[in-house]
Amino acid sequence: MMQNFVYDQLLCRVVFGAGSFGTLAAEVDRLGLSRLLVLSTPGQSRLAEDAGRHLGSRAISLYPHAKMHVPIETAEAARAEARRLGVDGTVAIGGGSTIGLAKAIALESGLPIVAVPTTYAGSEMTPIYGLTEGGAKRTGRDPKVLPRTVIYDPILTLGLPAKVSGPSGMNAIAHCVEALYAENANPVISLMAEEGIRALARGLPRIAVDPGDRDARGDALYGAWLAGISLGAVGMALHHKLCHTLGGSFNLPHAETHTIVLPHAVAYNSGAAPEAMARIARALSAAEAASGLYDLAASIGAPLALEEIGLQEQDLDKAAEIATRNPYYNPRPISREGIRRLLEDAFHGRRPS
Ligand code: NAD
Repeated sequence: MMQNFVYDQLLCRVVFGAGSFGTLAAEVDRLGLSRLLVLSTPGQSRLAEDAGRHLGSRAISLYPHAKMHVPIETAEAARAEARRLGVDGTVAIGGGSTIGLAKAIALESGLPIVAVPTTYAGSEMTPIYGLTEGGAKRTGRDPKVLPRTVIYDPILTLGLPAKVSGPSGMNAIAHCVEALYAENANPVISLMAEEGIRALARGLPRIAVDPGDRDARGDALYGAWLAGISLGAVGMALHHKLCHTLGGSFNLPHAETHTIVLPHAVAYNSGAAPEAMARIARALSAAEAASGLYDLAASIGAPLALEEIGLQEQDLDKAAEIATRNPYYNPRPISREGIRRLLEDAFHGRRPS
């Protein structure tokens, strides 16, 4: 069947491979940058020091102060430091929090970003930024915040603990899943999204058994790259909306919430997006999409129930109310009762049938 579609190509250079971190200085030179601020979280400051060694005199300073969800105070302090030092770019080495801080700097100054991701969150492939102010996270899109160059080195992910890697990878799978039934889905992104699910489903179970398995780390990071492209290129739907609600209003952990909700959001949408469901099932080598995602999460030892990660049963009504307050695109129309049932299944961790 012929499709009509719009496809926006985002411009970003990607260097992928074991040992590719060693190309950092050459990649910075390629962009004509010579005064860099190297960002990380406090926990990853050793890696930032390694980046500093690779960069030599191009590293003007290290800034290991990135924090989860980019609090506005953290963003303002980093912007002031970038101005004070007169840097001409940033190197963000770490997960979505560190890349988010680089984006906050770029949003104000336009300073180009070289990103070296070490989780599977996918922020490095998107023009989406987020800033937290007064307890609320504000997100927006701006082409200025899309990194110019991204270096994916699976070796840097070997230290990501198995219990963090699994949910982080399921979060990436969620980007691919919703890309397949997005309002503005297109055939190129759908190819990448399906391949992203396949690569992550191949890598994650092996990482759960042996976090030091380099080939499995390569598969997962490759899948996470494709997931990040999918997230940046097309709009998301019910699943991301629910996770945003649960994370923002009930302070639940980001990746674990995605892991638990995904099979239930997919079950909710299954009748309304049959082609996407067939592609998800095919990529998982499973009989069916929703139960296949549940079984993958179970096989890697990820949490399966919202009650395990701190949601209270009395919060379900409020969560359903918040998540259905404003209209948004979803392949199956949103009903308050349907979402309440979905959340209850996710609360108890029931396997979708
Ligand atoms: P994170 O960046 O907060 O990292 C989690 C923790 O793991 C940090 O303490 C970090 O120092 C540590 N860590 C990271 N990599 C490691 C490694 N390889 N080995 C050992 N420790 C490591 O978490 P995240 O899941 O990467 O990102 C989540 C954040 O990113 C959320 O705020 C989310 O909203 C945002 N996000 C934004 C986008 C976007 O497009 N803007 C996309 C996805 C996620």
